[in-house]
Amino acid sequence: MTNPFKTYTLHNYKTIPQIAALSDEMIEAIEVVGRVLPFKTNNYVINELIDWTHIDNDPIFTLTFPRKGMLERRDYNVVKKLLDKGADQEILDKKIREIRMGLNPNPAGQEHNIPEVDNIKLKGVQHKYAETVLFFPSQGQTCHAFCSFCFRWPQFSGMLNLKFAMKEVDLLAQYLLKNDKVTDVLFTGGDPMTMSAGVLASYINVLLQPEFRNIHTIRIGTKVLSYWPYRFTKDKDCDELLALFEKIVKEGKNLAIQAHFSHPVELKTDAVKEAIKKIKATGAQIRTQSPVLKNINDKPEIWAELWRRQVDLGCIPYYMFVARDTGAKRYFELPLDKCWNIFRRAYRQVSGLCRTVRGPSMSCEPGKIQVLGVQEVKGEKVYVLRFLQGRNAKWVNIPFFAKYNPKATWFDQLEPAFGEEKFFFEKGKERSKANKILFE
Ligand SMILES: *Cc1c(COP(=O)(O)O)cnc(C)c1O
Ligand code: SF4
Repeated sequence: MTNPFKTYTLHNYKTIPQIAALSDEMIEAIEVVGRVLPFKTNNYVINELIDWTHIDNDPIFTLTFPRKGMLERRDYNVVKKLLDKGADQEILDKKIREIRMGLNPNPAGQEHNIPEVDNIKLKGVQHKYAETVLFFPSQGQTCHAFCSFCFRWPQFSGMLNLKFAMKEVDLLAQYLLKNDKVTDVLFTGGDPMTMSAGVLASYINVLLQPEFRNIHTIRIGTKVLSYWPYRFTKDKDCDELLALFEKIVKEGKNLAIQAHFSHPVELKTDAVKEAIKKIKATGAQIRTQSPVLKNINDKPEIWAELWRRQVDLGCIPYYMFVARDTGAKRYFELPLDKCWNIFRRAYRQVSGLCRTVRGPSMSCEPGKIQVLGVQEVKGEKVYVLRFLQGRNAKWVNIPFFAKYNPKATWFDQLEPAFGEEKFFFEKGKERSKANKILFE
């Protein structure tokens, strides 16, 4: 049994028995890249997800361990050289900070979405789309393992006490009372499921009070089903956690677990199957999402299997994302054309029950932009795009066009098609509207 929970970082990973089988080159990569990108894994990932006999291209190893290609060669060599000659910690730290700053640690203008109550900035809250408020409980800002493509770690803060949490949720509550169009509160992180059941309850119970009847849905974004399914089956407070889920549902709210699954392997263990069963028995629903990533899940067959397995287990496929422009993105990034081709080739081979999924979608400053496809219109090859979510809700679901660019991996590399200077949402009045959050 892979319980209790044990984590491994740069400081103790050599105590993992399987590590002995890695080549010197792979160890060197962990040492060098692991200084710059956050590295944390755990005993479940190591013993039940990673296939150590095919480590060179094992997707879950790539997902949680540093690999050489994740840093630019120049950065890699600089760090390696400093380590080899035993440079002062101070010099090393300075260099590492520099490299990290070059990796765009705060993508997509998230700082625009922080609301205020009585002139107090709600640092743990983001409100971009009218109906859904994101809430980052301070105690949920870490994960059971770190994904190597993720750069949320600048926000991974230390543990704070319960009193602080209560103050935080109080501000959230005030904000929600003043914004009665909000129907969904999405707990996110890090991973909110790193919190104990007691702390999570202290946040959620507030939202179950009668004055929050406008809140129909509580969502929890989490990778815990992939990285630590024992959270629901073996952890000390697992029954308390499931009882909390049940209570939310009994109070008449939807509870949607937004689970991150990047590869079918994450859905194969007995532990994850049992955890999904237990969650569903509380009345909660599980919706799934993942970015499409080179070296991890860049084949249509992988996605088709992922969605089929999810539906078999009673989960609802929800989003396929394009990897964000941050961190080790170059190691994982795929041209938009390729993302779309993976999506459509997977989509066409699965049942309609799997086709609840939408994508590939980019979370950009103006909104969530879906690549509907590549098409030729009057002799010009174009991307057909649309907003799934817009900073201005009026933009949603209107097809628009960008010049085809086979290399583009993100929306900011695209230009309007047909010789237009601007996209429709960048013109005149529309543009000024984009500068503030609009909830009409
Ligand atoms: C994705 C996202 C949401 C949720 O969008 P849904 O389409 O309702 O799942 C909310 N806020 C932000 C900032 C988001 O990026
Ligand atoms: S689980 Fe989510 S927040 Fe945590 S490291 Fe992975 S992608 Fe980042």
